[in-house]
Amino acid sequence: MLLTCPYCGPRDVSEFTYQGDGNRQRPAPNSQDMQAWNEYVYDRLNPAGDHNEIWQHSGGCRSHIRVVRNTLTHNVSSAVPVRGDAHHRSTERRKSGAKA
Ligand SMILES: [Zn+2]
Repeated sequence: MLLTCPYCGPRDVSEFTYQGDGNRQRPAPNSQDMQAWNEYVYDRLNPAGDHNEIWQHSGGCRSHIRVVRNTLTHNVSSAVPVRGDAHHRSTERRKSGAKA
């Protein structure tokens, strides 16, 4: 399987390390909502189809990338840097308390 690093280009998947489910939304650090923390820590999606994942190019530039991979075919339809993507920006806004 090939993954395309946005900085290095197509590379064998052996150069990358899976970093986890890219759909998780971390609660605010001071949140007392135990259900939200429980879901963040333990709940994972297991789709048969497109899945949003975080990978690190650990054998290359060490960047974290957000990958949309089909779990049935391993076809990668998107690979973008985590820093600066829409998901990262919304998380940063939430951390800083800014309105969307
Ligand atoms: Zn890279």
